[in-house]
Amino acid sequence: MKPWTARKQVAAALRNEHVGTRQGVAGRGLFAARAFAPGDAIASYQGKVIARAELAALHGSDRTLFEYINEYAVATPSGGHLYAEDVTAVGAHLINHSCGPNASWAEWEQGALLVRATRWILAGTEITIHYGWVGVKAAMEKSWHTCLCGATGCTGTIELRLEWREDDANPLQGGPFLPPEEVERRLYADIVNGVDDHERLLLRYAKNSLECVVGATSVQGVDMDAYYAKLSAAAEAAIRRVLLQGVKHSAPRLRKIANTYAVLEMANIRQRALGVSQ
Ligand SMILES: [Zn+2]
Repeated sequence: MKPWTARKQVAAALRNEHVGTRQGVAGRGLFAARAFAPGDAIASYQGKVIARAELAALHGSDRTLFEYINEYAVATPSGGHLYAEDVTAVGAHLINHSCGPNASWAEWEQGALLVRATRWILAGTEITIHYGWVGVKAAMEKSWHTCLCGATGCTGTIELRLEWREDDANPLQGGPFLPPEEVERRLYADIVNGVDDHERLLLRYAKNSLECVVGATSVQGVDMDAYYAKLSAAAEAAIRRVLLQGVKHSAPRLRKIANTYAVLEMANIRQRALGVSQ
């Protein structure tokens, strides 16, 4: 067999040569047609890039296209949105979301976004990524996408389950609100699946939420200090849940979360985590 060089691998991923489609965890999905090792390029998202300003203009003129792009596109480094023009083609736009994914978005190559394996993937396995949807719009409309991924500790919704707080007396106090139990669910799913996708989403939400955009309108974001305190408390609750329930988990992941959020009773939690990993 000829060596599968990194270059050949990327070229094959750009052609979506080693993937196929059939029914997956949530409708049509993308499947591996060969085995992949962690770090391997699997497939690519081919499409068209639309600028943020153009997308905002669509909000008033073509709501269907606006909704489609907003929901299914991926953000580009230029601040635009890449979306699939041909949804019938086989490619990364078919990848379903999972709370314990085996792949993730990687680098841009020739105008397409590559997907790389984050775990060993056997031929025939469904390829999944974490969509990383924030869900401000879902919170306003009280309409979340149900997650059917089946991963351990599945959070139940694809987007972050933000709630919308109305405050007529002081509108600046109103806006997206993230319940602590949602943070706990997310961190718990990360710990038991040995991933960091939910954590990245939570941190990205904090970073970007100083200016949340809903449709073409900016809304009030989060109070950073209160948010971090909430993350710490929820991280502690998630770690306790993992340890008390004795579920299978990745000890390094658990320790990383404990460190990131400076969780109380660290010594005790660390010791127990180390005990489990031995
Ligand atoms: Zn899930």
